Amino acid sequence: MHAVDLPVPPRVLVVEDEQKTRDSLVEGLRLESWTVTPAANGAEATALLDREAFDLVVLDWMLPDGDGIELLQHFRARGAPTPVLMLTARSTLEDRVIGLNSGADDYLAKPFALAELLARCRALLRRPSWATDRLLRCGDLQLDTRARVAVRAGQKISLTPREVDVLEYLLRYQGQIVTREMLEREVWKQSARITSLDNVIDVQIMRLRRKVDGEGGERLIHTLRGLGYRLGREGE
Ligand code: CA
Repeated sequence: MHAVDLPVPPRVLVVEDEQKTRDSLVEGLRLESWTVTPAANGAEATALLDREAFDLVVLDWMLPDGDGIELLQHFRARGAPTPVLMLTARSTLEDRVIGLNSGADDYLAKPFALAELLARCRALLRRPSWATDRLLRCGDLQLDTRARVAVRAGQKISLTPREVDVLEYLLRYQGQIVTREMLEREVWKQSARITSLDNVIDVQIMRLRRKVDGEGGERLIHTLRGLGYRLGREGE
């Protein structure tokens, strides 16, 4: 199986301190047309994970400023569902078990062939929640992505095509921060910021929120000042 039919290119975070390995991983994953962000240590990775949503994390076990396992446990403790592929030179069964118990979804021992890494990444990205879910849900809100119909508490919501696009994007990344830049690039498909779309996006989200959250319902679309937006239930 080769290409995965994804609605937007998946966003992959690569955490690896060895520059040569990091560069070849980034290059290899970009050849898949994925959006790849490199991080050279645990601090950089943590800052990125706090600020942006990713669909997949490729995480080296041994980092100069700590242990990939600790980073992973911290990430999982916040309830982040993003799949994580651990890389490590260690290959004993015991280490493998520690990695999987800490919340890694898969494990690859170094040295590895790029083709093998890509196959594992594709398998993780093929998980139903990302690639094939026709029905996206959060609380009593659901969106049928094929029929492009949104329903809240059993009532159909009348949305413009753009509002459906934005809602689908927010639902796919639910529980995570979605920046204006992500929406601009991946929903509005503007790669160069000739004129900023920030105001357009803010107005669009305000209208969408009025329709989706309405009066008195549980608020699902949240604004995070200076960061972007997050769709999710309170306390999640
Ligand atoms: Ca390392």
